[in-house]
Amino acid sequence: IKEKIQALKPNQRFISFEFFPPKTDSGFRNLLARLNRMSAMNPLFITVTWGAGGSTSEKSLDLAATCQNDLGLTTVLHLTCTNTNKEIIDDALKKAKENGIRNILALRGDPPRAEEYWTPNCDFNSAVDLVRYIKEQYNDYFCIGVAGYPEGHVDGSDSLGQNPQKDIPYLVEKVEAGADFIITQLFYDVDKFISYNKLLKSVPELKDTTLIPGLMPITTYKVFTRASKLSHASIPKAISSKLEASIGNDDAIKGIGVDIMTDIIERITAETDIKGFHFYSLNLEKAVASVINRSHILQTYLENSPSIESEMNDDAIA
Ligand code: FAD
Repeated sequence: IKEKIQALKPNQRFISFEFFPPKTDSGFRNLLARLNRMSAMNPLFITVTWGAGGSTSEKSLDLAATCQNDLGLTTVLHLTCTNTNKEIIDDALKKAKENGIRNILALRGDPPRAEEYWTPNCDFNSAVDLVRYIKEQYNDYFCIGVAGYPEGHVDGSDSLGQNPQKDIPYLVEKVEAGADFIITQLFYDVDKFISYNKLLKSVPELKDTTLIPGLMPITTYKVFTRASKLSHASIPKAISSKLEASIGNDDAIKGIGVDIMTDIIERITAETDIKGFHFYSLNLEKAVASVINRSHILQTYLENSPSIESEMNDDAIA
């Protein structure tokens, strides 16, 4: 990924998509068909999530290997390092390499929901330990991504709430340990992302690391509120009022969602030097395609992309 980003022309932009492994075989088959269609949007890479504690290890590896080898997509395997054991991590890295996967998103993971008090295992306490481990074991074979939080990680919260400044030393540690790029937590407050980008640019150790904003298109009001709550993303008043006025009208919510995402992309493109946008697709195609179709700025700079309109029509989209 690092090389692919470096090879972009100065004004070129990219998109990338996140997928999670479906639970059933028929879900897997449906997703492959959708992935095939979505590859027409020409993502620079796709990522495959990893269930907390390695709960989806087999399915994540399966999906990642299929994307890399059968679909020819540059694939990033997410990997979490806490609440798991070293064998699971060793096995994942070995299988990723055997399948030609060159990119890992190195994450800490969250405490299991049922456990109020959480003791990370002794090998890995935070994502930086995984970044160091991958470097120790594989040198530069893997290009490594890490997570960033435009509103600050909830673990660093104090009486004033979340604060991105507090994460900076940990992000510096991850980059110094060998991380090549940063994908952010989803956000809807574009001002917070723009400030975060400025903050990272002001830190000498971070200023040259690729920052990729994570965007989750709005599909339904319920999913939107759930996802923003789980990820501790704040919702600007202008956005919540627009959506609240249309609760119960799913088509209107989808349309407003496309407008909101398009505005976010246009602001970021106009006010920063961000090169790419990562879409949390939730394995859905239409919402992502609608946003990319609508975003004229993105269209202009996504060189070599076939017209999405001609590739995608409502009949083809799940
Ligand atoms: P870390 O980088 O370890 O840090 C998280 C926070 O912990 C820091 O910001 C800081 O507040 C604190 N911290 C870190 N180091 C220290 C230290 N030495 N001392 C004190 N405090 C410290 N989860 C999954 O289970 N599966 C996935 O596939 C997945 N994909 C994700 C993809 C993206 C792009 C993002 C943003 C998150 C993803 N997550 C996933 C969620 C992630 O596991 C959680 O957000 C987790 O709480 C933190 O992971 P991290 O890698 O950011 O942790």
